[in-house]
Amino acid sequence: MIWDSIKGHAAQVEHFRRAVSRQRLAHAYLLVGTHGIGKRLFARTLAQCLFCERMEESALEACGECPQCQQVRANTHPDLLTVECPEGKRELPVALLMGSRERRGREGLCYELALRPMSATRRVAIVDDAELMSEESANGLLKTLEEPPQGSIIFLLTPDTDSILPTIRSRCQPVQFAPLSDADLTDLILEQHLTDDASTASQTAVLAQGSLSTAKELLEPELRGLRAVVVHHLSAPGIQPLRTVADVTAALDKFGSDSSVQRKYAGWVVQFAVEQLRLKLHKVNDPTQADILGTMLERCLETELHLRQTMPVPMCLEALFDALARIQRGGELARSV
Ligand SMILES: [Zn+2]
Repeated sequence: MIWDSIKGHAAQVEHFRRAVSRQRLAHAYLLVGTHGIGKRLFARTLAQCLFCERMEESALEACGECPQCQQVRANTHPDLLTVECPEGKRELPVALLMGSRERRGREGLCYELALRPMSATRRVAIVDDAELMSEESANGLLKTLEEPPQGSIIFLLTPDTDSILPTIRSRCQPVQFAPLSDADLTDLILEQHLTDDASTASQTAVLAQGSLSTAKELLEPELRGLRAVVVHHLSAPGIQPLRTVADVTAALDKFGSDSSVQRKYAGWVVQFAVEQLRLKLHKVNDPTQADILGTMLERCLETELHLRQTMPVPMCLEALFDALARIQRGGELARSV
């Protein structure tokens, strides 16, 4: 059973199975859900089921062994077209969809989708990072969506529908994907040997909020280092704000000085602080202590907001740890601040 290798998303599989068995597959789908939850693997597996020689299309299954299946798995199937935003780019290059400037409309995904299938009975396109399409790309794609080539299917993958032009959105059937459950994500982390320690895996799964790509990032040395700094300072009996800020800032600087990068990782500092405070909160019995921890957690959420409102990162962090230290020192005084 090919779908057994995919964690979660059973309802979405059923959705497509019903559509296929009623011969009601749409030409274009918008697969919506946060990064790193398996949308692309889902779309590829779906294509494999549609291409497989040994299984009826209506079963929405794949044998995993026929030449079609093997080509999909090896990423060499001539009728499965995929594009994504290259690493480091902030926009999906128009050339990938519409062809280079000199050959606009005579190459690229939209052109190739209209060609006759080479080995399967239809062509399938996967546009990952669809939210990063430029207006030019979107307009090019729109023509394809308005007159879809016979039998073709396009999957547009995006974390949210807001960043997709309404004209594109209205021509696609949306399918919403939920983040992976903590249990599924823990399993995936262990299966992929991102860590072999079960408790690290489950802690990471909670922090990653259902996203495998976030979990991967969390398990890389840089973020582990940043987390260790936050854990170290927050688990001390009394938080020392100046030293905490100095160490956190030094750890943040390892990610580079780009302000949007700093802001992103400062967000992780807050997440790690929240994680630590929640752990403590689970352990305390004394209501006064629980109250203090609750106030500290609220203060962290305030910093999240400040970071989103583009308050300078150093100011956010200084204010945060200063406030946390004060709240920790004495509940009453701090609550009025
Ligand atoms: Zn097969």
